[in-house]
Amino acid sequence: MTVGYLFLLWLSILLHEFGHCFGCRHVGGTADEVLLWPLGGLAMVSPPNNRRAQLITTAAGPAVTVMLTAVFYGATQWIPPTEKAHWVAYAAFVFNKWCAVLNLLPAYPLDGGRIFQWLLVPRLGFHRATLLATRVGKVFAVLIALVAVLHYHDYMFAFLGLWMYMQCEQQQRALAADFGGGEWGGAGRHYMDADREEPRRRSRSARRGPSIGTRVRAWWSRRRTAQRPVVDEDLRRHVDELLDKVSTSGLASLSPEERKFLQEASERFRDASEPPDDRAGS
Ligand SMILES: [Zn+2]
Repeated sequence: MTVGYLFLLWLSILLHEFGHCFGCRHVGGTADEVLLWPLGGLAMVSPPNNRRAQLITTAAGPAVTVMLTAVFYGATQWIPPTEKAHWVAYAAFVFNKWCAVLNLLPAYPLDGGRIFQWLLVPRLGFHRATLLATRVGKVFAVLIALVAVLHYHDYMFAFLGLWMYMQCEQQQRALAADFGGGEWGGAGRHYMDADREEPRRRSRSARRGPSIGTRVRAWWSRRRTAQRPVVDEDLRRHVDELLDKVSTSGLASLSPEERKFLQEASERFRDASEPPDDRAGS
C-alpha cells in the first residue's frame, strides 16, 4: 500500500507540474525543468510576458489536479473496497482533492494566488495587483500554519505556511525595489538593479557549477524580468488614456493625481529608455 500510494503521490505532483509545462509551451513559452521537493513540485516555466499566457500556464497545473481527483474518485467507485487497490486509489483521491483545494484558494504564491494576481492586473495594474495578492497570501499563509499546528498537528503544512509567507514577503520587497518604494516612482531603477545583480550571481555559479538553488534563483529572476514589460504595458495604457483625455477635453480636465501620474510616467520613460537586458538565462 505504502509504495503504491507514494508512487501515485509522486505521479500526481509530476503530472501537475507537466500541466504547467504544457500550458506554458501551448502559449509559446519555454519549460525546461521540473523540480520535485518535499513540499511539492516546481515547474521552471517562462511564459511570454502577457496576462493570457501567464494565466493559462498557471491554471494548467490545477486543471490537471482536478482531472486526477476525478480519475481517482472514479477508481474508488470502480474497484471494490475488498481490494487493496481501492484504498490506494482512495488515498490518492484525498491527496489530489486537497491539492486542488489548496491550489484554487487565492493564496499567493500557490497557483490560485497567482491566478488571483493576474485576474486583478487589468483592474489594478501589475504593481497593485501583486501587492494585494501577496497581502492576501500572507493571511492564508498564517491561517494554514495555525490550522496545521493547532488542529492537525501537522508540521509539514506548518512549514508550507512559513514558506508561503516568506515568498510573499520576498515578492513585496522585490516590488518595493522595482518601484523605489512608491507607486510609480523610482524611475527606471529596476532595470539597473537587474544589471548590477546578475553578473555577480553568474560568476558565483560559474565557479561552483550551477546548484539547484542557483538554477531556481536564475529562473525566478528570468520570470521577474519577463514580467516587467507587462508593468510597462499597464503604465503605457494608462498614459495613453490620459493623453486621449488631454487631447479631447484639455489639460484642465486632469485631476491633480492624474497630472502627477503623467509627470512621473514621462520621467520614468525618459530614464528607462534603455531596454531591459535579460541575460539571466543559464
Ligand atoms: Zn502548480
